[in-house]
Amino acid sequence: MLKVTKFGGSSMASADQYRKVRDIVLSDPDRRVVVVSAAGKRDKHDHKITDLLYLCYAHTRYGVDCGQVFDMITSRYLEIRDELGIKLDLETEFADLKTRLDEKSVTQDELVSRGEYFSAKLMAAYLDFQFVDAADWVKFRMDGSVDQESSYACLRRQAVGRGLVTPGFYGLMPDGQIHTFSRGGSDITGSLAAAALNAKVYENWTDVSGILMADPRIVDNPQAIPEVTYDELRELSYSGAQVLHEGAIFPVREKNIPLNIRNTNAPNDPGTMIRERFDQDSDPDRFITGITGKKDFSIVSMTKRGMSGQVGVLRSMLTVFERHGISVDYTPNGIDNVSVVVPTESVAPCLYHILAEIQQEVKPDTLDVHDQIAVVAAVGRKMAFRPGISGKIFAALGEAGINIRMINQGPDELNIIFGVDNRDFQKAIRVLYNSFAK
Ligand code: ASP
Repeated sequence: MLKVTKFGGSSMASADQYRKVRDIVLSDPDRRVVVVSAAGKRDKHDHKITDLLYLCYAHTRYGVDCGQVFDMITSRYLEIRDELGIKLDLETEFADLKTRLDEKSVTQDELVSRGEYFSAKLMAAYLDFQFVDAADWVKFRMDGSVDQESSYACLRRQAVGRGLVTPGFYGLMPDGQIHTFSRGGSDITGSLAAAALNAKVYENWTDVSGILMADPRIVDNPQAIPEVTYDELRELSYSGAQVLHEGAIFPVREKNIPLNIRNTNAPNDPGTMIRERFDQDSDPDRFITGITGKKDFSIVSMTKRGMSGQVGVLRSMLTVFERHGISVDYTPNGIDNVSVVVPTESVAPCLYHILAEIQQEVKPDTLDVHDQIAVVAAVGRKMAFRPGISGKIFAALGEAGINIRMINQGPDELNIIFGVDNRDFQKAIRVLYNSFAK
């Protein structure tokens, strides 16, 4: 059985990190396919190589010399190489790249892809694995989507024998040009490699011990989530938490391959396991998987007496939002009233038009707008059909003196969503975390 391991930018940032990656890969003979990002930040004042490459491109585009930035890039890789005693000529390739850059014969995508390319070259030499260029197996269609079938076949043909290292983030267009995914796209490459090779697991190694139960900027030292389903993950990321590139889910999910988020700096931590579903409940007392949320929503509420007996009131209200191209997040309602919850940023430019049109077309008895609302989501697959969870949530918030402005639960009972004042946002998350984390 084979495991695909992907190492993010912070895992590739320095010679020390390379040593950790090597220990991780060599400690398990199943870890035979390694996907790498470009070197990331060594500390918070440092720069990501990918950012520097974008900067180089911008310089040359405006006719400004990029020599200094280019030197920063080369020296990062040469330092890693020399500190680890890797025998590899990178100087010639860097010099060629610089010449092409000066001649303006390199595209932006090709240039920024070189961060991953050089990372993979170095790591392959360090592990004594085969280097397989992403341009030789990740195949894009002309519309920018990945041709999975031909990409998978290409990788399968090359993944023979001992281990291989391949760069993340880019592939080849049908016209032979290099094309990149959007930022953070090495996650997608790892997922494609895992799907192509029917891996037993896709390990995504980063610098946290998994997906955290709550935002660490709000809750001190939050626990990592041991197990999460793809549906829960979508809920968690929709309302705040950003862990993986969205495009990384589909290839592994389609093939039912579990995805394991791990920490390069704490390799013994089990991290977070993401699957379609968990047949065995390893932790029956854990009802809430994670707590997330976002600030700055507006609630547009209207009352119309007798509305429950009339046909089409809700539709005409929503039509107004649709006409202005505004996507509506939630629509909690009562018998004779309905509220529409939308991000303030999206509704602000046309709010007065919207209110005037609702007034005219729906003829409500009252119409109000409340701003400065935060939406908090408690996500958990095990809340379904389990009485008492929402009671516990609202009791905890009530005890903390937090006023709830709106409540919404999806029909699949995967989450309970509620609105609070922006100023209560952090407190609400902390209160829930403290009542549900174990
Ligand atoms: N290096 C690229 C970026 O920073 C891709 C990646 O690391 O996933 O966006």
